[in-house]
Amino acid sequence: MRGKLTASMLAMVLTMPAFAQPAPPTATPLKLWRLDCGRIEENGARPWAWQRVPTPTPCYLVQNGDRYLLWDAGTSRRALGNAHPTIKLDRTVTDQLSQIRVRPEQIAFVGISHYHGDHTGQAAQFPKAKLLIGAGDLEALKRTPPPVGAAPPHIQPWLDGTAPVEALREDHDVFGDGRVTVLMTPGHTPGHSALLVKLARGPVILAGDLWFTHDDALRDTMPDFNTSRAETTASRQRIARMADKLDAVIILQHEPNDVAKLPAFPEAAQ
Ligand SMILES: [Zn+2]
Repeated sequence: MRGKLTASMLAMVLTMPAFAQPAPPTATPLKLWRLDCGRIEENGARPWAWQRVPTPTPCYLVQNGDRYLLWDAGTSRRALGNAHPTIKLDRTVTDQLSQIRVRPEQIAFVGISHYHGDHTGQAAQFPKAKLLIGAGDLEALKRTPPPVGAAPPHIQPWLDGTAPVEALREDHDVFGDGRVTVLMTPGHTPGHSALLVKLARGPVILAGDLWFTHDDALRDTMPDFNTSRAETTASRQRIARMADKLDAVIILQHEPNDVAKLPAFPEAAQ
């Protein structure tokens, strides 16, 4: 029967739309860099395990074609040169970007996992970027007084309305191709979020402060300053299920042992 057009095949051909869905352009592989965005060095007098060792406060760069997302913005540039007793910063984000030839104006999006100051420090270096932030966190940042641990001046251009902001109430497909998604995971703060990056080598979830450390995950503990215990628990279950289903690598951003899950800068994971 080869070469013969049957009636049903003919009907199928005739009812096909003149312009089928355009094939997606061959997508360039995503790239994910781990940037050094500072660390917190506390002494051993504080109660939580995560405060007994230097705690990294990393941020991350995602490249999708010619567009970039900065995920979290680390500690403030004011900590440069050991200017702060416990918060340390060796290199700025913009300095690291220049090493891989990325200009600040190429950062299309700055995604903030939550409003604490160790995640927003250098955001204002990218005032042309659209800020992606949980709506609950944005609302909290606008309150007087702001929540404990938040530093509204870090994101002043977006609070002033001079820079574009997207207040997220649900998961958000950053580039519109389903490969990079902000996942709403409230509990640490009202609008806390994580980031799913579907790299060619496998998905990665940057979990923000959903868990601080492996100890936190093993003991199922959380800081007493989390804004909701119940929401934290639900968000943790959600991300654990998702990671299991997708076989994703979860990176706890403050866990020193998770740092090496991504290659050392300037190498990128793909
Ligand atoms: Zn943090």
